[in-house]
Amino acid sequence: MAAAFRAVGVDATIPPPSDSATLDLGGLNSGGEECLPHKITLGDFLKVCRSPGFDPDRTAFFMPTAQGPCRFGQYAPYLRQVLDELGYADVPVISPSSKDGYQGLTDQASELMRIGWMGLVLGDLADKFRFKTRPYERVAGDSDEMFEETLGAFELIVELPDLNAKIRLGRLADAVTRMRDRFRQIPAAYEKGRPLIGLVGEIFCRMNTFSNDELARRIEQLGGECWLSDIAEWVWYTNWGQREKLLRYRGRANLDFLKLKIKTHVQHKYEHALLAPVRDDLRGYEEPADVNDVLEMSRPYLPADGALGEMVLSVGKAIYLHGKGADGIVDISPFTCMNGIVCESVYPSVSSAHDDMPIRIFYFDGVNTNVERDLEIFLELARAYQARKTHTRVYPDYFG
Ligand code: SF4
Repeated sequence: MAAAFRAVGVDATIPPPSDSATLDLGGLNSGGEECLPHKITLGDFLKVCRSPGFDPDRTAFFMPTAQGPCRFGQYAPYLRQVLDELGYADVPVISPSSKDGYQGLTDQASELMRIGWMGLVLGDLADKFRFKTRPYERVAGDSDEMFEETLGAFELIVELPDLNAKIRLGRLADAVTRMRDRFRQIPAAYEKGRPLIGLVGEIFCRMNTFSNDELARRIEQLGGECWLSDIAEWVWYTNWGQREKLLRYRGRANLDFLKLKIKTHVQHKYEHALLAPVRDDLRGYEEPADVNDVLEMSRPYLPADGALGEMVLSVGKAIYLHGKGADGIVDISPFTCMNGIVCESVYPSVSSAHDDMPIRIFYFDGVNTNVERDLEIFLELARAYQARKTHTRVYPDYFG
């Protein structure tokens, strides 16, 4: 996304990685009852304010917002309030909303969304390659290194200004081919049988390894392989939400409905083009063809038209991954997150309706817990389930 902003002329960058200073600053400037992602994002931004050379006149913070039954909608106003209190009243907080599919961005919103979508698909893809390679690599660190290199290579193309969409897409598809070939060259021992653990849950905590205490890496060290739910599913979900609202209040015969249809079509087209070079490598790792499939799977437990937010995606994706032969599901959730609490209440029913596949929620609040021991037990459950599961896993051809 930062590269996409640069492509439309905004000098954007992501904050440095979260660390203990993040937690300190976030904790000092929040009340203590906020959810962990708020503390982390606030701390990361305040770290920027304290960094050498920080120029408030040349800085704006980007904090999207959303409507719905969660505290995320309060993050941007809260950040605004803290910045004001600390003397940064002139530093703008840019805050587009999921309500309109993040349309209210810049005067180049369409271009930014178009390029940002390409970047997002590529980020998810690079993550997927990392997660499917890392557990099998012969030299520790190879996959992470390749992941970083790949992101850098993608960024160089995403950030190019004034590039025709077709040309950009073509160059990026070539970069995907290069990524595929380079990942294939990583010395690895692909052996069937590692428990495949689906990672679902709250999007920030799931993706931010500092927040989740490197849960995926820990699972790998205990002998598992992870399938991390991607970020794109959230974009498909917001499209779905926008469509439902339009249908409910304005019907199909309006310009916004047509625009949404075109946007969704273009997003599918770009995704298809970018994934084309890696179809074979992703055999067995396919994401759901349509977010509606996920929402339908969730429906008996959490109907999407009643239960809003990530909870429906987490439950639906858990069921989808059961069908893909996963051996267990870990839901990564910030402590006190309503999404996690609601999911936790339906997971026993989900599990018992799906061959008693182990599903477990892990809560994070920024303090160390004994995750290791709980994960060991979970992996044992996953192995026991693996021995009796009925949905077998499909492996790519490069597995022995
Ligand atoms: S989903 Fe949960 S953790 Fe994330 S912002 Fe909402 S309440 Fe907080």
